[in-house]
Amino acid sequence: MATALVWFRQDLRMADNPALCAACECINTCDDSGTKNEIIPLYIYDTSLEEQASLGGASKWWLHHALNDLAARFDNKLIVRAGKPLDVIQSLCKDYDIDAVYWNRMYESWARERDSEIKKTLKSNGIEAKSYNGSLLWEPMDVLKNDGTPYKVFTPYYRKGCLRRASPRYPLPEPKFTLFHTLKSEADSAISRLNLLPNIPWDDTIKNVWQVGENAAKNKLKNFIGSAIQAYTDARNLPAVKGTSQLSPYLHFGQISPHQIWYAVHDAFGGDVSQQGVDTYLSEIGWREFSYYLLYHFPQMPHQNFNAKFNKVTWRNSESDFKAWIRGKTGVPIVDAGMRELWQTGYMHNRVRMIVGSYLVKNLLIDWRRGERWFWDCLLDADTASNAASWQWVAGSGADAAPYFRIFNPILQGEKFDKQGEYVMQFCPELSKLPQKYIHKPWEASDDVLAAAGVTLGKHYPKPLVDLKLSRQRALDAFAAMKEEA
Ligand code: FAD
Repeated sequence: MATALVWFRQDLRMADNPALCAACECINTCDDSGTKNEIIPLYIYDTSLEEQASLGGASKWWLHHALNDLAARFDNKLIVRAGKPLDVIQSLCKDYDIDAVYWNRMYESWARERDSEIKKTLKSNGIEAKSYNGSLLWEPMDVLKNDGTPYKVFTPYYRKGCLRRASPRYPLPEPKFTLFHTLKSEADSAISRLNLLPNIPWDDTIKNVWQVGENAAKNKLKNFIGSAIQAYTDARNLPAVKGTSQLSPYLHFGQISPHQIWYAVHDAFGGDVSQQGVDTYLSEIGWREFSYYLLYHFPQMPHQNFNAKFNKVTWRNSESDFKAWIRGKTGVPIVDAGMRELWQTGYMHNRVRMIVGSYLVKNLLIDWRRGERWFWDCLLDADTASNAASWQWVAGSGADAAPYFRIFNPILQGEKFDKQGEYVMQFCPELSKLPQKYIHKPWEASDDVLAAAGVTLGKHYPKPLVDLKLSRQRALDAFAAMKEEA
């Protein structure tokens, strides 16, 4: 008899799951003399994490539903526990005489430390412990420059470091295996006991927008490949258009793997992925890989400026400005629309993430780490690697970042990417009667025009928090001082 434990973490799926496949392989190859060979699928809600790593509200919401989906796929035989993973695993090993423990790797520094301690302890107790790559096309330790150091610039990393290597592995099929343990079914109640859902029901709109599940992810991918992918290069910049795949939360929680995406796209285009939309889409999957790569090689990235010169910037950190930003009340329509989209749906369009980020860090001169934390709490796709790398990119402090002097003009961004103002009108409906030419700059409309649209600035919609020109100059001065001092 053999019993294998599969520890699910950010890989909440059955298909293309190397750890699960390894467990099936293990128990299939063990001598079966009529007694039971079993797999125990396990999820541990890690209660020992420091605040920085513990999940935000939106992530908890997604996790609740993702665990229910996974539990149902295992016929409710998923074991769900809360605690310190080492303690939970050791106690299960003792109770169920477990021979082997398998999991897919995570790349956050705290997870790597935790996992290597667990591996060491299990091995010293004579239990097999193995980890696999379930979430990256190219593992960070395998991709280095000729001089043995890590890449810091995306294009050579992706085009030279990754694409010229052997192709990523093809996705593994979902195991047909059904010998999951016969322990008392507990998943349902155990998931509820984690208390992941909000006490105040802010999730009403989120519930209507998202379907959480492995099959939902597959369908989203299929629909995207069948329609929007070819126009992706341009449409991905238009927040009012459904031009992107919206797979990020599924990717974060591992309900779909990048391998499944990569090969679904390659197979759909007969291996020719050179056409523009397709190549651009795959390179965005590449940006996700790059974020993990940076996190692995520069584990301090979520907390520290990648470029140490930025330690010299004197941030304003005005609490009232920060509050106006999180509430979508800055008086700049595209910024407010983005922040409200985030609050209402747990998601924000990438173009708008860049605009609201630039506005926070540059026009309001607020430390990017405050924005990163707010996103961490509100995004369903909150991801240590992509969030930190993207915030540092916006701030200018990151690897391969936008230069510090590139400050988005939110009016021009709005006029270019939300020409008709549809996105703004969706999330700032109080502006919807304004003529199109003022939708991104209501303060330029005359009193008559505002009155005809039913808008009084400062009453129905805020006056601008800061003057965009002056605040731009203030940011340039603050960043220039940093340059001089360096
Ligand atoms: P698509 O355009 O369909 O792209 C496909 C996939 O590629 C995405 O699902 C995502 O996994 C990956 N991807 C796309 N763009 C990027 C990018 N710039 N960096 C890294 N991966 C990318 N993404 C997260 O997944 N989690 C975050 O916490 C996160 N925080 C961000 C914070 C800021 C300030 C900014 C500017 C961007 C952030 N992003 C984050 C990146 C990007 O905005 C989202 O991945 C994207 O909007 C998700 O939508 P989509 O799935 O429709 O993307």
